[in-house]
Parts: sequence; C-alpha cells; structure tokens
Amino acid sequence: MEHHLLSVGSEALRKAAMNDDAKNYILNNPTLFRVLKKAADRYIGGENLVETISKVLIQNENDFKCSIEYMGENTDTVQEASEATQEFIRIAKEIKNKKLDATISLDLSHVGLAISKDLCFENLSKICEEAEDIEVTISAEGIDRTDDVIHTYKKATKQFGNLSITMQAYLYRSKDDFKELLAEKGRIRIVKGAFETPKNQSIPRGKELDDIYLDYVDQLLAKNHQCSIATHHDVIQQEAKKLIDHYKPTHEMYEFESLYGIQTEQLTTLKKEGYNTKLYFVYGEEWYLYLCNRIAEYPLNLFRALSDIVN
Ligand SMILES: Cc1cc2nc3c(=O)[nH]c(=O)nc-3n(C[C@H](O)[C@H](O)[C@H](O)COP(=O)(O)OP(=O)(O)OC[C@H]3O[C@@H](n4cnc5c(N)ncnc54)[C@H](O)[C@@H]3O)c2cc1C
Repeated sequence: MEHHLLSVGSEALRKAAMNDDAKNYILNNPTLFRVLKKAADRYIGGENLVETISKVLIQNENDFKCSIEYMGENTDTVQEASEATQEFIRIAKEIKNKKLDATISLDLSHVGLAISKDLCFENLSKICEEAEDIEVTISAEGIDRTDDVIHTYKKATKQFGNLSITMQAYLYRSKDDFKELLAEKGRIRIVKGAFETPKNQSIPRGKELDDIYLDYVDQLLAKNHQCSIATHHDVIQQEAKKLIDHYKPTHEMYEFESLYGIQTEQLTTLKKEGYNTKLYFVYGEEWYLYLCNRIAEYPLNLFRALSDIVN
C-alpha cells in the first residue's frame, strides 16, 4: 500500500513536470522560481555553462572526473537542434580551454534524432570533430528510440574514436544489443534504465535486475572493454568493487559514475578507496523537469528539497 502510494505520487510528479502550464507558471513566478531553484542547485551544474564550469573545477580539484551535459531531450526543429549542437561544441571548447578533466554526455534527440537520423548524424559529427580526443557519451533514451540510437552510434563510431554509449540493463532487448555494442571499441556505460516501457519489455527494480546489471559489468571487465558503472546503488557498487579487484583493470578501463548531488558520499568513499570515479553534471534552463525527476525517482528527496529551500 505504502509502495503503491509512493509510485502514484512519483507518477503525478513526473506528469506535473511535463505539464507546460505548470512549468510556465513556476518559471514566470519569481518567488517560486527562486525557491525551487534553491532545491535544484543540489543536482545541477547551473543554468548555464559558466556556472557549471566553476562546479566542475571544484570537483576536478577534489579528484573527481566529470561528465557535462546540456540538458534537453526532444528537439522538434532544425534550428533548435542546431542551437543545442552549438552548445555542445562550446562545452568541448571550454573543456579544452580550461583543461578540465571532463567528458561530454548527450541525448541524440537533443541534437536532432527526433527530426531525422541524417540531421542527428551531421550534428553529432560536428560535436565529435570539435571534441577531438574528449570522450562523447551517447545517452540511452526511451525504447522507441533504441534502434535509432544504436544505429547512429555504430555509424558514427566508424569515423570517430571518441564515442561511447549508454546501455539500459533493464531492457530485455539489451542482451542482444550488448553483443553488437561489444563489437565496437567505445566505452559502454551501464545504467539500470529510467524510462517507462511497454509491458514485458523491461525488468523491474529488484534482485533479477541487479544480477543482470552486474553480469554486464562482469563481462565488460573480463573482456577488458571500457565501461562505466553508472549507478547510485550501494550493493551494486560493492559487488562491482569485487569484480574490479578480481580483474584489476587500469583506471582508463572503468569508472564509477554518479549523478551530481545523488549519493555523493558513496562515490567519495569509492574515490578514497582508490577507485576511478566520475560525477555527471547537467545544466540548462530545463532544471525544473530535472528536479521533479530526481524527486520522483526517490521520493525522500522531497524532504531534502524542503530542507534546501528553508536553509
Ligand atoms: C551517470 C548516469 C547516467 C545515466 N544515463 C542514463 C541514460 O542515458 N538513460 C537512462 O535511461 N537512464 C540513465 N541514468 C539513470 C539510471 O537509468 C537510473 O534510473 C538511475 O541511476 C537510478 O538507478 P540506480 O542504478 O541508481 O538504482 P535504483 O535501483 O534506482 O536505486 C538504488 C538506490 O540508489 C539510491 N538512489 C537512486 N536514485 C536516487 C536518487 N534520485 N536520490 C537519492 N538516492 C537515489 C537509493 O539509495 C536507492 O535505494 C543514468 C544514471 C547515471 C548515474
């Protein structure tokens, strides 16, 4: 019953986040904007790249590698896709100029996949060219986009050696996708998966999913294939540590990666223990949606948000 209530609450929050009227009301109400932004600050790099770079610099000094994403998912016009592409190019330039220990993450739909695969490929190529040897990691999106994302990755990776990809362990189809992705050189970032899927296409949270997640990590480490263990799940991190201690990969071959502001203490402990660790920063004006999603996936964050607002 309690679990059901929480999931209804989470779903309501996700819907509210997507509701344009609610979003516009908040973004146009200076008091609400200021108050909610205080809660979002814990999770975002900032509203723009400049703010984000100052946080990345601090975390680099703390010995965390960082990943930077300009947030946004569906871009509906060529103009918007081009503007997003220019922003990712700016990230690449700033990483080089400021010599940040950082990589780039992006949703292909943000740079044109929702419009056309050709446009997306063109924009992704521009970003990879500017990024040179900076790693560019493609995110995993809803299951309706998985084929197009993998297709674009495989095509682009033939030309660019700096690409890597995210795979969602919760999808049943990932078992086959994994074989295809292993055939490419790029790092594979394993996540559990964040999107709703049609019935019977994904494994719910629980032991079966945790075992599958760890099995992917095991295979990647055994094959000495670059991987990212992207999770906040303490049990998985502890089990992955055992695998790392067993296979003894070099630091470039694996990383523990967490979203900035979520279970950072765990990542800090891993770092202190000598494991390779990375913080994932997102920034942009869409922070309201991002905040709602962080609360929806872990409702206790609501109390953290209240406390951030009051303090
Ligand atoms: C670096 C990175 C990149 C990602 N990229 C993608 C992507 O491209 N596509 C995609 O679908 N998903 C992506 N995700 C999200 C991912 O799929 C999961 O939804 C998210 O990581 C939560 O799952 P979990 O593995 O942390 O474990 P869960 O089983 O969801 O949670 C396990 C435990 O982790 C802690 N935890 C989890 N979430 C929170 C939170 N919000 N606040 C506080 N504690 C929390 C809690 O202790 C919880 O009990 C990414 C995640 C990371 C870390």
